[in-house]
Amino acid sequence: MPGAEATIEADPIERGAIEADYVVIGAGAMGMAFTDVILTHTDATVAIVDRHDKPGGHWNDAYPFVRLHQPSSFYGVDSAELGSNRIDEVGWNAGLSELASGAEVCAYFDQVMQRRFLPSGRVTHHARSVYADGVVTSIPTGRTASVRAGRRLVDATYMNVTVPSMRPPAYGVADGVRVIPPNGLPSADRPEGGYVIVGAGKTAMDAVLWLLDRGVDPAEITWITPRDSWLLNRAVIQPGDGFRLNEQFDVLAVADSAEAVYAGMEEAGHFLRIDPSIEPTMYRCATVTEAELTQLRRVADGIVRQGRVERIEPDALVLEGGTLSRPPDSLHVDCSADGLERRPAVPVFAKDRLTLQTVRACQQVFSAALIARVESDRSLDLDAANRLTGVIPHPDVPRDFLSGALAHIANAQQWLGHDGLLEWLGQTRLSPDGPPADPTAVVRAAANLERFLAE
Ligand SMILES: Cc1cc2nc3c(=O)[nH]c(=O)nc-3n(C[C@H](O)[C@H](O)[C@H](O)COP(=O)(O)OP(=O)(O)OC[C@H]3O[C@@H](n4cnc5c(N)ncnc54)[C@H](O)[C@@H]3O)c2cc1C
Repeated sequence: MPGAEATIEADPIERGAIEADYVVIGAGAMGMAFTDVILTHTDATVAIVDRHDKPGGHWNDAYPFVRLHQPSSFYGVDSAELGSNRIDEVGWNAGLSELASGAEVCAYFDQVMQRRFLPSGRVTHHARSVYADGVVTSIPTGRTASVRAGRRLVDATYMNVTVPSMRPPAYGVADGVRVIPPNGLPSADRPEGGYVIVGAGKTAMDAVLWLLDRGVDPAEITWITPRDSWLLNRAVIQPGDGFRLNEQFDVLAVADSAEAVYAGMEEAGHFLRIDPSIEPTMYRCATVTEAELTQLRRVADGIVRQGRVERIEPDALVLEGGTLSRPPDSLHVDCSADGLERRPAVPVFAKDRLTLQTVRACQQVFSAALIARVESDRSLDLDAANRLTGVIPHPDVPRDFLSGALAHIANAQQWLGHDGLLEWLGQTRLSPDGPPADPTAVVRAAANLERFLAE
């Protein structure tokens, strides 16, 4: 306003204290999804602290060809659509719901911050700032501020997501050996000795698929996979009626052993695997299409199953199960970071603190949003809030699929008993519920799961 005296609020770090009802450590997908629901369902203020300059967490560090593994339509924050619900017409996801690229995910979270959170006047974003032991330190200035959360400190870092570009490989690398994270792949020159992809997870699959998509001959790709994995078929994880995960209860209800569950899930088209002759020992919710699986199988002859890499020498890979000779001018692509490790479950709700974790298997943003909705009900005591938010740790082995399904049944029963939550579940864009589960199948599934897990 002309003539009005401008008021410039001193930076909270300059003042020496960051105060808000909630101080959220971590502006990754979980911290953002949590804050969004708190803004909608309460009048609370939120201070968000993050080491990164922009919101989005690990998506800021991911390789340039990364995409969501699941449809955009149920990723992000509750109040804002991500993407436009299009069906992909080209590529190996053709016919299925669109998947945002890493750049789109980062731009989306930046817009949520700039257009919703900050203009609300209830959120402050302390970018490039690190939290430790109650103190926030600004990286650019070195200034520190103590943290005072009126209601709770929210730990949105507990999932400890690690992508390859964030750390050096855990194995030894001799001088002169070329090892890059997948981030360097699009700008790397063709190595005369071929490509060596290190890692068994989704990042390694993405790197292999990127090479094949760029026309690299499968014979030039060596793929070090210490474990084979059950993969989820993206065709059954589509929005609306395409979300067919409830069919898993039909499989679980009739199975007579854990092995029969995996076989039944494969027969029902939910589980996929690269080599049908190998029983997978890994399950981490990695999600692919059948078209991608067909591509991955093109490198079957280059897959090396001799355990983890211990050391890379100029002319050989030293693996747990033996030594593999390699031409000296190979390019090694390190995809071995743990991504989402299986962390011990801790109670989500404590007196002064919330620890954001997964309460629906492999659905991090949904989980963070649901925890915020529970938090917004100030009538609940800690025990009641924790009963509504039973933690389902990220899976690592096939058995974790069983414990995750049983924990999901228990959580869903709790949610049915809370009116506000039930209403929220009915309207949130983050809850992809397709056709309802058959209640009789769910009861039988729970009984079977308890038996299989006890065996
Ligand atoms: C390649 C890849 C693809 C994925 N695709 C999907 C998908 O399609 N669907 C899905 O549901 N999930 C997917 N995931 C899982 C994904 O990890 C979650 O969706 C989600 O992004 C995790 O967010 P987060 O907030 O828990 O963690 P992060 O993204 O790691 O955010 C945590 C933030 O906390 C900050 N931080 C940590 N410690 C401190 C500190 N002391 N002080 C200040 N800041 C700190 C970090 O800088 C970071 O920004 C994918 C994961 C990967 C690796």
